[in-house]
Amino acid sequence: MKVMIAAARLKAQGLDVVDLGAGEPDFNTPENVKQAARRAIDRNFTRYTPATGVPELKDAIIERYRRDFGVERGRDEVVATVGGKQSIFNLLLALVDPGDEVIIPAPYWVTFPQVVRLCGGIPVIAKSAPERGFEVTAELVGRHLNRRTKVVILNSPCNPTGAVIPWEEFLRICALAAEAGAYVLSDECYQRFLYDGLAPYSAAAVPAELRARVVVSGSLSKTYAMTGWRIGYTIATAELAAAVGKIQGHETSNPTSIAQAAAIEALTGPQEPVAEMVREYARRRDYLVPALGALPGIRCHKPRGAFYVFPDISAWLGAGLETSDEFCARLLEAECVAVTPGSGFGSEGFIRISYAASGRALEEGVRRLGEFLGSL
Ligand code: PLP
Repeated sequence: MKVMIAAARLKAQGLDVVDLGAGEPDFNTPENVKQAARRAIDRNFTRYTPATGVPELKDAIIERYRRDFGVERGRDEVVATVGGKQSIFNLLLALVDPGDEVIIPAPYWVTFPQVVRLCGGIPVIAKSAPERGFEVTAELVGRHLNRRTKVVILNSPCNPTGAVIPWEEFLRICALAAEAGAYVLSDECYQRFLYDGLAPYSAAAVPAELRARVVVSGSLSKTYAMTGWRIGYTIATAELAAAVGKIQGHETSNPTSIAQAAAIEALTGPQEPVAEMVREYARRRDYLVPALGALPGIRCHKPRGAFYVFPDISAWLGAGLETSDEFCARLLEAECVAVTPGSGFGSEGFIRISYAASGRALEEGVRRLGEFLGSL
C-alpha cells in the first residue's frame, strides 16, 4: 500500500511510472459479473442481507468447490466475507486466545503477523530457504510446533514468493498440526494461479478426520479480477463458521449486497476468463524470470504460482544502499519503477515484483532496473 501511494504521487506529478508494486490484476472485472451487479441495483437488491451472506452465494461457493475439488460442504459451513482479509481476520479472532502462538512461514504476506498480534497472539516465523525455492514443508512447520501453537497459516501459492506446496506435503502439514491440536488456516487467495501444468487444490478437500482442524479462507479478488468488490469466504466446521458469523454480525454485518450478486455470477458463470488470465500470467512469468536473471547481481527463482517473483538483490546492498527499503525507494526515485521491498514480507535482501502488469510495463521495468543497477 505504501509503495502504491508513492507511485500514485509520482504519477500525479505527470511522471511515467512503471508500477510493478501492486498485488492486483491489471485485468478488468469480466462483463457478465458487472452486468449482474447492475441488475442487482435495478431490482433494488440493495438492503441488508444475512450477516454471513445470502444462501445463493453460499450455494455458489459450495457448488464451485463440489465441481472443482469434489468437496461436499453445507451452507452452515460457509461464510461470505468482505474479502479474504476479513475471513482471515475473523477466523484468527475466533481461534486465537492471548498468548497463543501462530506459525507463519516466511516470506509471508504482510498482513498475517499483524492480524495475529491484533488478536493477542504471538507470530512464530518459520523461515523457508530461498535456495530451496522457498518451499514450505512439514519438517519446517514441525520445527516450530509446540503445545502453545494454535494455528499454522499456509498460503499456497504464496504471496510474495509464488512457491506452491504440493498436495501431499500440504496433507502432511495438516496431519502434523492436527496431531499437535493446532488448526491449519489455508489462505487460498491465489488458488487458481498455477503454472507448469500444476492443478489447483483446496484444503476443503482434506480427509474427513482432518476437517475439524483445517479451515479455508478464499477470495474472489484475484481469481475474477474483483479486488475492489471485496468478496471472500470462509469454509470451516459449522461450529467455527457460526463463531465467525457472530463476529461478522457485530463487525460489518453482511458483505455488500450488490457485490454478493456479482460474486454469484462470477462463481456460476463462464470460467474461461479465469483460464485466459492464468495463461497470460504464465506468459509474463516466462518472460520476466530469465530477463531478471540476466541482470547482474540478481538471483531469481522460477515461481510456480501466484503472480509475483521474489528476486534476491542482496548483492547490491552495502556501500550506501543498506536495505531493500532503500533499494526500492532509490529505484522509484531514479527510474520511476515501483516494486516492493522484501522487508515487509519478513525477508530482507529481496524485492517483490508483481507481474500483474502489462508485457510492455514488464519490459520497460526490466530495462529501467538494468539502468538503475548500472548506475550503482
Ligand atoms: N491473502 C493473500 C496472500 C493476499 O495477497 C491477499 C491480497 O493481496 C489477500 C489474502 C486478501 O485479498 P482480499 O481481501 O482482497 O480478498
